[in-house]
Amino acid sequence: MSKFWSPLTASLVPYVPGEQPKDKTYIKLNTNENPYPPSPKVIEAIQAAANADLRLYPDPTCEALVRAAADYYGLPSGQVFVGNGSDEILAFAFAAFFDPAKKLLFPDITYSFYKVYAKLYGLQTELIPLDEKFRVQADAYRPDNGGVIIPNPNAPTAQLLPLADIRQLLENNPDQAVVIDEAYIDFGGESAISLIREYPNLLVVQTLSKSRSLAGLRVGFAFGSEELIEGLNRIKNSFNSYTLDRLALAGAIASFEDDAYFRDTTAKVIATRERVTKQVQELGFRATDSKANFVFITHPELPAKSIFQQLRDKGVLVRYFDQPRIDEYLRVSIGTDEEMEAFTAALREIAGA
Ligand SMILES: *Cc1c(COP(=O)(O)O)cnc(C)c1O
Repeated sequence: MSKFWSPLTASLVPYVPGEQPKDKTYIKLNTNENPYPPSPKVIEAIQAAANADLRLYPDPTCEALVRAAADYYGLPSGQVFVGNGSDEILAFAFAAFFDPAKKLLFPDITYSFYKVYAKLYGLQTELIPLDEKFRVQADAYRPDNGGVIIPNPNAPTAQLLPLADIRQLLENNPDQAVVIDEAYIDFGGESAISLIREYPNLLVVQTLSKSRSLAGLRVGFAFGSEELIEGLNRIKNSFNSYTLDRLALAGAIASFEDDAYFRDTTAKVIATRERVTKQVQELGFRATDSKANFVFITHPELPAKSIFQQLRDKGVLVRYFDQPRIDEYLRVSIGTDEEMEAFTAALREIAGA
């Protein structure tokens, strides 16, 4: 607490990212980063953009990247927004669309940044419980709310909500914005982008951080009706006109151009996920049905917090959430096959001890 802080600053409860430790080299399975490097074409494009033009401001409309993403998904440019990571876009969306006079709805177990943004913008919230199998209950999101936000697949539970359920949710809530955060959609889900044409209140948010191995570049996207995209631009241009730098723009465009690489690395992550799921089940763990680049696992007898600590001592970092309903679970990002072998070997030692 400082006397220089505004009442708002004093009231905030900031997001705590997964640790990026510097004390030794860990096998990092704690922040859902992609284990594979970005496409070599992305690196080349960034290197080529590292030139004298960096003295100039980047294009504030990010037109070339907006067009690349629009073409990729078969949308008009006016239905695409880009931002400095999808976290920034989510923050803009909270400010742009959610009604402070009513409650914002999201799952009780979900991406913990939503609570942080709600607090930042003074929004009331209502947490809608996942069912006992950690599935989002679409029909529990009833109208007379100030907006809805759901990740699909959900984090950290990894489960996918079928498109039919999202459609039902949109039918039930036509008068407020519904944001679907698709950070993990490329690992086995079907995007709700196909519903944008029918539902002007639907905003779909995606990122290059997970499936395109570019967490370090900070590039996210939103897709929706022109009125929603215009709303995001109004907030952005009241905050910072130059959210994406020249290197990020160059790298992101190149990423969409190398689809073969994207498909190949995504397929590898999915194959590893399926194999790891079987292996941990053989060790007595239960796993939710993951359609993301991580698994969410629990053991009927071994306490999750202790497994987390023992894995850490063995040089393997995973994510543990000390919160109701999920304090006996671990979230484990999918690494390379080699990393996951080290993980399952460590787990075998712990479970056998
Ligand atoms: C990782 C993640 C994000 C943020 O991604 P960035 O584009 O890196 O900011 C957003 N939502 C969910 C659910 C995530 O897991």
